[in-house]
Amino acid sequence: EQGRRRGGTGFIGRALGTLLHKKGYQVINISRMPGPMNIVWDELEYRGLPPSTAVVSLAGQNILDPKRRWTPGFKQNVWNSRVNTTSSLAKAIAKAPEKPKVFVSISGVGIYPPSSTAEYTEDTPTQPTDFLSELAIAWEGAAKLPPEAGVRQVILRSGVVLGRFGGMVQQLYLPFFFGVGGPISPGTQYLPWIYIDDIAKMIQFSIENEKVSGVLNGVAPQVITNKDFTSAFAKAMWRPALIPVPKFALDLAFGSERAKIMTEGQKVIPKRALEYGFKYDYPDIDSACRKCARLFDDF
Ligand code: NDP
Repeated sequence: EQGRRRGGTGFIGRALGTLLHKKGYQVINISRMPGPMNIVWDELEYRGLPPSTAVVSLAGQNILDPKRRWTPGFKQNVWNSRVNTTSSLAKAIAKAPEKPKVFVSISGVGIYPPSSTAEYTEDTPTQPTDFLSELAIAWEGAAKLPPEAGVRQVILRSGVVLGRFGGMVQQLYLPFFFGVGGPISPGTQYLPWIYIDDIAKMIQFSIENEKVSGVLNGVAPQVITNKDFTSAFAKAMWRPALIPVPKFALDLAFGSERAKIMTEGQKVIPKRALEYGFKYDYPDIDSACRKCARLFDDF
């Protein structure tokens, strides 16, 4: 694992690091842990940003960690690990004598209020309505650089990232494997999603295309519901998906404020990514789930 770590330490960071390495980039990771290719956050503050082509903000405490209770302290952790890290990167860029060409910062589709009727594109105005939208607005705000910095900025509002070795699928793999996976009630809620390779590719696309700037919804073009995901995943795993998970159980286990990520959803359209001509490797949920169900992957 250590030898294969060629980028960020997280789920998306590892995929991006691997992709960028293949393309010949040298990747330096900013982390809480020291390491051969790591800079720790304090070091970033006192030594400044090393000369770089691009900076990507991908840090964040795992919000759906089932072992962590949804306490005020944990919420603060979830908040600070996104807003403070992103703001440290923005400050380091603003202060750097040699600026990167581009700053790509991740955010989430939780900026749009869950709805069974609304359709969201990047043109939809955002406003704080709940914890997740407040967080995403503050997170995107922390990434803002002054125009005089002259650095191109891209914000990717990611949907749920699907991949065998992280995020939601990693948590669902075993229950589905043992045939006890099922839809989350009511099942009709939208599930904005993107396959891990595609979010990494979208970050690379944002780095390399000078015309790309502003907000991009980091979701696949196929709009699906929770029930659609469950059947595609169960089919890919050759398992049934009969036992629905009741909303109250998730509210109880996760606290309703964060259980919302699973029990409610948004219909999000990647309008700008498509306009820019971004090509998805996994545009449909069946191909993404088939890849997720494989026991072994490239990383
Ligand atoms: P991971 O859970 O894999 O974590 C990413 C990295 O964040 C970790 O490797 C860790 O780096 C750092 N981190 C974790 N906790 C803290 C903390 N308390 N303080 C500072 N840094 C911390 O995340 P993903 O790769 O899945 O996601 C990356 C970003 O994208 C996150 O901000 C996430 O919110 C966002 N996102 C992810 C989605 C998904 O489905 N995965 C969907 C939408 C947005 P280290 O240990 O090196 O310090």
